[in-house]
Amino acid sequence: MYDVIISGAGPSGSKCAEILAKNGFKVALIEKDTNWRKPCGGAVNSRIFKYYPQLRRMNFHRINGIKIYSADFHNFEYKWRNVMDYSINVDRQQFDNFVRDIAVDAGAELFNQNLSYDFITKENRRIGIKAKSPSGLQEYYGKIIIIADGMSSKLVKKSGLRKKWNIEDIGIAKCAIMEGENKINKETISLFFKSYKGYGWLFPLENNKFNIGCGIIGEDILRYNLNQIYEEFLNDTNVKKYLSKNNYRKIWEGAYPLPGQGVLEKSLYNDNIMLIGDNGGFVSPLSGEGICPGIVSGKIAAETAIQALEKEEISKNTLKNYKFHPTIKKITRSFKLTLSLVDFCFENQGQNLSKMFKIAEHDDAFREKLINLFLFNEAPSKDFIMKLKFEN
Ligand SMILES: Cc1cc2nc3c(=O)[nH]c(=O)nc-3n(C[C@H](O)[C@H](O)[C@H](O)COP(=O)(O)OP(=O)(O)OC[C@H]3O[C@@H](n4cnc5c(N)ncnc54)[C@H](O)[C@@H]3O)c2cc1C
Repeated sequence: MYDVIISGAGPSGSKCAEILAKNGFKVALIEKDTNWRKPCGGAVNSRIFKYYPQLRRMNFHRINGIKIYSADFHNFEYKWRNVMDYSINVDRQQFDNFVRDIAVDAGAELFNQNLSYDFITKENRRIGIKAKSPSGLQEYYGKIIIIADGMSSKLVKKSGLRKKWNIEDIGIAKCAIMEGENKINKETISLFFKSYKGYGWLFPLENNKFNIGCGIIGEDILRYNLNQIYEEFLNDTNVKKYLSKNNYRKIWEGAYPLPGQGVLEKSLYNDNIMLIGDNGGFVSPLSGEGICPGIVSGKIAAETAIQALEKEEISKNTLKNYKFHPTIKKITRSFKLTLSLVDFCFENQGQNLSKMFKIAEHDDAFREKLINLFLFNEAPSKDFIMKLKFEN
């Protein structure tokens, strides 16, 4: 019998498992495939070092600045002030295995090639997880169950915590890792906003490799064809300035959905169960950044589970402390404010975004706030919103 079973060993599940195991709890970490590379831009902001200081000793590609283009090609560049504020661009297969290994070193038991698909129940209580593995069906019994298996989760629907995603509540994005001689500034990530709700990106990686992709959110998923806008983006004139060759070697390509509505406050917990990471909506509705917020949710869910196990009280009465933790409340609030700006930004085919960039080109304080909104999920201030609405 495990203290905690976690379905999904992505960044949020692995952080959760690590904290529990470090504190002496028996943890089963169920993963469908450690060789899967999650479709992702792989941009991780500097906050990650608070949760994984070991990453500073790794060779992930360092980033010191950002360049953002609006749909009408206003653009501005921003460099981090402090060199130690660098962020990193990662290959998700490498990164996910790095954080998994840390969980395993802390004492979590990783069960790879196990696809969780249902709960084991007794007298209407969840007492475990059923998983399919190459050697047959497996059963894992545990006191608390944490769902961290992302957008494709089979368990979450069966948990009754939330329904299937509505198309207008998600985003969908496609990207590739490519290789070849290019003119991308090796220390700068570039975002290209478009007339649709979403954006394209070009992120440098080591050895002439780069991650390129684009995504759309909400009802624009129904209006635009992702494959088509992706192909158009690869041939975009601004992108071609960086990628002058015709043939780049495609190392990998994939498409995947992501949550688009911010934290799902009503769905985060119930008796002996919690949802973390993408499953709980821990993704910025504007930038699509979800690695760091997912890791934070995993850490706080683990701390909540520890309190519950120590008190021997694993009902929703104790697990509600997860939702009401000040950091979770802060993320929830900040994503809510960001979400309220998303529609405004993309109104009239991105005209307001263009306006934002125009202001940012000459106003240092506004530019700083815009960057914090995009990169660090900082809630937009009243001043910022007023300036946006009233400055011509
Ligand atoms: C195309 C794209 C680009 C993105 N770019 C960025 C970016 O640049 N920066 C950023 O911060 N965020 C980005 N995101 C968001 C980010 O990828 C997610 O928010 C983040 O991966 C969430 O982590 P997670 O651990 O909650 O879920 P996931 O990373 O999805 O991990 C879930 C884990 O569960 C496993 N799993 C799934 N189903 C099962 C099952 N039934 N049984 C067992 N295991 C299972 C999976 O194999 C996986 O290991 C992007 C998303 C997309 C789709």
